[in-house]
Amino acid sequence: MANPKMKHPKNIAGKFYCTDPDDDNGEGCIACNVCYTGAPDFFAEDEDGNAYVIKQPTTDEDVELCVEQLEACPVGSIGDDGE
Ligand code: SF4
Repeated sequence: MANPKMKHPKNIAGKFYCTDPDDDNGEGCIACNVCYTGAPDFFAEDEDGNAYVIKQPTTDEDVELCVEQLEACPVGSIGDDGE
C-alpha cells in the first residue's frame, strides 16, 4: 500500500496521490510511466519521470480510471486514502 506520509511534494491535495521515490517502505514510484500514460489528465511526470497527481477525479468514470492506475502501478505507489 502507498504510504500517505511519503507523498510526492507536487501532488495536488485530495484523495489520490503518488508516493515519493524515496519512500523508505520501498513502495516509491519507479518512473514506470503506467499512470501518466494511462490517465494523463490526472497523473503527470516530474523532471525525473516520477509521477504525481495533477487533478483529482470527480466523476465516477474518472475515479474508476484513477483506480485502474492505482491497481496497475507495479510498486503500489498510488494511494487513494489522502486528504
Ligand atoms: S504507475 Fe506507479 S511506479 Fe509507475 S509512474 Fe505511476 S506511480 Fe510511478
